[in-house]
Amino acid sequence: MAQAKKPNNSVPKMITLKGVTKSYPPDHTALRSIDLKVFPGEFLFVVGSSGAGKSTLMKLLFAAEKATSGQVVVGGRNLSTIPREHVAGLRREVGVVFQDYKLLSRRSALDNVAFGLESVGAAAEPRRRLGARILEAIGLGDRLDALPLTLSGGEQQRVAVARALLNHPRLVLADEPTGNLDLAMSRVVLDLFLQANSAGTTVVMATHNLSLIEELNMRTIVLDKGRIIGDFESPRGVI
Ligand code: ADP
Repeated sequence: MAQAKKPNNSVPKMITLKGVTKSYPPDHTALRSIDLKVFPGEFLFVVGSSGAGKSTLMKLLFAAEKATSGQVVVGGRNLSTIPREHVAGLRREVGVVFQDYKLLSRRSALDNVAFGLESVGAAAEPRRRLGARILEAIGLGDRLDALPLTLSGGEQQRVAVARALLNHPRLVLADEPTGNLDLAMSRVVLDLFLQANSAGTTVVMATHNLSLIEELNMRTIVLDKGRIIGDFESPRGVI
């Protein structure tokens, strides 16, 4: 199994995990002794069967869960020791597509995208225009004013993707962002992540959809029962 080539150690990292273990009470260990470096501008796929620990890894990177032991550093912040009040600063810099970060139910699709998690100070009109453009690109141009509950699961997922990418974050974490989408729409959404990556955003995406990603040349790690069992230069190493 060919291992992925990594830039040398003196290059600053976007993400560093050292000896990370995560256990849930009372005694279930979801991640075991994880070591991982992700460099700025990388696109990393995290694959593995259900229960392998993919979501847990993503949650640790967003400080939505804390490691039981070991060190998690994201964008220079040590999430193992970060004070609660500094977590908001991290989250402003990171775009997420997680099942647990739902859309705001009383706001339209467009408002969720343009002003979703929090308003970032930019003028309202340009943000709305940008939001509308992204929603149009993913086939939701006629649903801009729809409330989330009137959208299908797949449509809500696309709105969440648009929300995550709007601010051109340094880092995007996406947990199964194409889980509710058919193959054609999955490709459209994946393409948005690839475009963001080409513009410099580091992307970490968990997926079990190997057929969607197999043709790409992106680094892929394989999780199995909480351990990294492979680290490849492209998904072809896995398949
Ligand atoms: P994946 O995303 O690869 O399906 P998860 O990270 O969701 O894997 O889960 C890894 C393991 O941890 C699974 O066995 C799951 O049941 C368990 N797990 C996940 N979240 C919790 C939790 N909050 N409490 C207890 N066990 C959990």
